[in-house]
Amino acid sequence: NCKDVKDALVEALKKYNYEDKVLITETGCIGACHLGPSLLVEPGNIYYIKLQPEEMEEIVIKHILGGEIVEEKCYYDDISKKHIHKLNDIPFFEKQKKIVLNNCGQIDFSSIDEYIANDGYLAIGSIFENKCPGEVVRVVKDSGLRGRGGGGFPTGLKWEFAAKSESEQKYVICNADEGDPGAFMDRSLLEGDPHAVIEGMTIAGYAIGANKGYVYVRAEYPLAVERLNVAIEKAREYGLLSDNIMNSGFSFDIEIRIGAGAFVCGEETALMNSIEGKRGEPRQKPPFPSDKGLFDKPSIINNVETFGSVPYIILYGADWFKTFGTEKSSGTKVFALAGAIHNTGIVEVPMGVTLGDIVYDIGGGIKNGKKFKAAQTGGPSGGCLTSNCLNTPIDYDSLKSKGAIMGSGGLIVMDEDNCMVDVARFFMEFVQEESCGKCVPCRLGTKRMLEILERITQGKGEEGDIEKLIELGETIKETALCGLGQTAPNPVLSTIKEFREEYEEHIRDKK
Ligand code: SF4
Repeated sequence: NCKDVKDALVEALKKYNYEDKVLITETGCIGACHLGPSLLVEPGNIYYIKLQPEEMEEIVIKHILGGEIVEEKCYYDDISKKHIHKLNDIPFFEKQKKIVLNNCGQIDFSSIDEYIANDGYLAIGSIFENKCPGEVVRVVKDSGLRGRGGGGFPTGLKWEFAAKSESEQKYVICNADEGDPGAFMDRSLLEGDPHAVIEGMTIAGYAIGANKGYVYVRAEYPLAVERLNVAIEKAREYGLLSDNIMNSGFSFDIEIRIGAGAFVCGEETALMNSIEGKRGEPRQKPPFPSDKGLFDKPSIINNVETFGSVPYIILYGADWFKTFGTEKSSGTKVFALAGAIHNTGIVEVPMGVTLGDIVYDIGGGIKNGKKFKAAQTGGPSGGCLTSNCLNTPIDYDSLKSKGAIMGSGGLIVMDEDNCMVDVARFFMEFVQEESCGKCVPCRLGTKRMLEILERITQGKGEEGDIEKLIELGETIKETALCGLGQTAPNPVLSTIKEFREEYEEHIRDKK
């Protein structure tokens, strides 16, 4: 693993009395899961991949001492049949635009000084100098930033509602309860650049008039919790979370709350209940959190990536942010790319790139010469995109028009061998287990849907099962209390719409 590779590098440098001449920085994830463990050597931007501890001595002798690139340990491009040495030339990175993930894989996640040296906390300094809270809200509104957690609600508008709510006490909440199967975007940012999230939350606190923030992280992310804790402590030490930040008179502090493994706690009102020490069940809306949120006080809740975008918007301006993406979906989006493709990992792309760009140019195409069949976006709340959608721009509205959703950023690619009924059954089993049981349509409806899907996949399907699935799905969507239930039928309805013949085949052939 990475630690063994790093230890071997340190050992090799010591062996040749060179450890004082090389700075080794441990960074967060650079995004290319399929290429790790990796090493970036500067100067030169030389990128070594798939490293083993026993290879480190050779890199030290040849490259660090001898100045010669160890070509066979660099990226190998199948198309050009050449070794590529520089990170920025690799197609996987070339087609991306990193804003939120700019520091991930580049700076030491534990060093506040490195964050500051890369313009960190400059945005917060600039607003104290020349922006009142209302102007901060206006910039975020003008940027067109929409919530990256799935719903796509305009962030600036959400902040404006909370800013207008009158209260002595308000809260900023960061939703890091990332629970979609296959999604790890928030984890990557928290582990790789925790100060960006802290800075984004502090800016939000200033904008709405809150002096307290909570980050709600899922318990399954111990490393993210550890690194965030270190970052919060450092920010306090530097006075960046304090009673009088940069002598502005504004005070803000952040606490971490750890979830207990319930997917439903990713729903904003259930999450607030959980922070309050209550059972993690969704609340009826309205009232909305901006009026009556955490502890019944006005609150905003945004996800990790949304907060991570904010310092850059403040620093470079709303117009700059809008130069990326589309008219109604500005900026970039981080995806966790997984499934039957060559290149898996975390990618950040400008909104509006096509699904085909992501699958073929960044993802490197389908493995083993198979054909692309579908991509599932939005995890258990989302829908599937078929080969007819390869030219579809990835933005909130285009995905919605295709019956899918952006979701938080899980993107699972499937090849011709995947059974779409199995895929739908998998997601239904997941949401059925995670339903909190508070309302009947979700508690019982998803159970009935799962039973039907199980009998279909076991070759015991009956005529009329598909219609029952559609009827149940539509009813649950309309009547469930919270987002979990309202979106739970999506994978089933979307696969029936696009791959109905697979359902029919299971029922007809009893297989
Ligand atoms: Fe609970 Fe499901 Fe109802 Fe949401 S829709 S409140 S998860 S039972």
